[in-house]
Amino acid sequence: MKVKVDFDLCESNAMCEALAPDVFELDDDDYLVVKKEDVGPDDLESVRRAVASCPRAAISLEEAVSEG
Ligand code: SF4
Repeated sequence: MKVKVDFDLCESNAMCEALAPDVFELDDDDYLVVKKEDVGPDDLESVRRAVASCPRAAISLEEAVSEG
């Protein structure tokens, strides 16, 4: 799965970072950084929680497009 963030919606409240710190991080300027777009099985549950908890509905998960 691939994680996408709509940075126009994101209000940098760090909810997603709290739930999935391996994937989301706010930088020193409070700008959200997606540390890894490709979400593996280990991160999927916490990322799903972040998607559900984002008050701006800025995060989405998409099926990774298979190669070829
Ligand atoms: S939870 Fe949503 S609004 Fe908050 S920092 Fe993450 S993407 Fe942005």
